[in-house]
Amino acid sequence: TSTTVQNDLHQRIRVCVRKRPLNRKEQDLQELDIVPVVGPRTIQLNAPKTKIDLTRYTEKHTFTFDDVFDGSSSNEHIYARTAQPLVDYVFNGGKATCFAHGQTGSGKTYTMLDPNHGLYVLAAQDIFRMLSKPDYAHLSASVGFYEIYQGQLYDLLNGKIKLTARDDGNGNIVIAGLREYSIKDVHDLMTVFEYGNQGRTTGKTGANNTSSRSHAVLQVFLKTGPEDKVYGKLSFIDLAGSERGADRGDANTKTRMEGAEINKSLLALKECIRALDQDKKHTPFRGSKLTQVLRDSFIGDSRTCMIATISPNNSNSEHTLNTLRYADRVK
Ligand code: ADP
Ligand code: MG
Repeated sequence: TSTTVQNDLHQRIRVCVRKRPLNRKEQDLQELDIVPVVGPRTIQLNAPKTKIDLTRYTEKHTFTFDDVFDGSSSNEHIYARTAQPLVDYVFNGGKATCFAHGQTGSGKTYTMLDPNHGLYVLAAQDIFRMLSKPDYAHLSASVGFYEIYQGQLYDLLNGKIKLTARDDGNGNIVIAGLREYSIKDVHDLMTVFEYGNQGRTTGKTGANNTSSRSHAVLQVFLKTGPEDKVYGKLSFIDLAGSERGADRGDANTKTRMEGAEINKSLLALKECIRALDQDKKHTPFRGSKLTQVLRDSFIGDSRTCMIATISPNNSNSEHTLNTLRYADRVK
């Protein structure tokens, strides 16, 4: 019924999976889509046991999530079921975070930060539509954009200077020195984003992809009154590629160290989201810089949506299984 759908969308934590379509190269190699969506919320991974006969020797893994989106789902559709409820929540004075998690090349950036129709753009359209209403005339929007790389924060809007996070004494995390731009429309936000995005840290991994080695955090603040008090905060997080160092065949120490740091932070993130769900007294946010700076998003009435992005093809099956297991544990 429509009421159940309503409740689902406003859960404290939602965990969804998005499968991208087979790309041109995978089609040319005649790779198979081994991750069928078998129900409205259920996805199956037919992991090949051998590389020889993909159809006969498979191991089936079945997972159920709050939503499963297949290759034909648009960002607009996904937005309506992920970030849109978070926008509503932030206008009620809350804090909300939307994560994209998955292997390099699985569609994290396409989902979250695509300059044309990434979730942040779609959210901005709603945010400015809301701000134009008399009810919200007292609110204004601003944006900050930073990356977390090797346990350090770098301001993407201010020459990548190092930043530090601290508690303001009222349970809010403040990033000291973070450059914030006030934004008046979607175009403002896109301009600021594009400027900052040029500074993101990427690198070649063993798999020879340009992968993101950092977590990118784009935060939209709604502020009130003359003191610029934070009323609501919405964060979009494009996590670093989740593939493991060993799998990438990383030859050099720098890449291996990056991989270890990324693993550590993704592990800490999983534990913090689980703690939020279980109303635990103790949230292990100290486990990484990522969870430290998001601390105020893991306590109280915060909302979280995780979008696990996966590739459909057989040669990525191990990464896909890792991503699905991770998302399953967060739930
Ligand atoms: P990631 O950020 O996880 O490394 P990207 O978002 O850069 O991955 O996606 C890798 C490539 O696949 C990009 O060229 C992107 O445009 C394409 N892609 C990803 N998801 C989709 C999708 N759902 N539909 C069409 N193309 C996609
Ligand atoms: Mg990316």
